[in-house]
Amino acid sequence: MIPATGYAAKHSFSRLKPFAFERNDVGPNEVQIDVMFCGVCHSDIHQVKNEWSNTVYPCVPGHEVVGRVAKIGQGVTRHAVGDLVGVGCMIDSCRH
Ligand SMILES: [Zn+2]
Repeated sequence: MIPATGYAAKHSFSRLKPFAFERNDVGPNEVQIDVMFCGVCHSDIHQVKNEWSNTVYPCVPGHEVVGRVAKIGQGVTRHAVGDLVGVGCMIDSCRH
């Protein structure tokens, strides 16, 4: 597991506060990114406030990130450690 820190809401009415959690290890077709910047869009705000009635707390908003590749999985060929990368939406897409 990879230790990580984010800003999380613990309830629909709470402010965001520093939050330590763990990410899964890097899979064979994944990259680990040291996040430098993160956007917080309107869908993040809806999610934090549980306005779609499906929020799982603690909730760390921000799904649009820019950072540097820190580690690559054994099957990754398009990126290398140190590359500047961005994630537009969400991880673990089914690709269909
Ligand atoms: Zn968004």
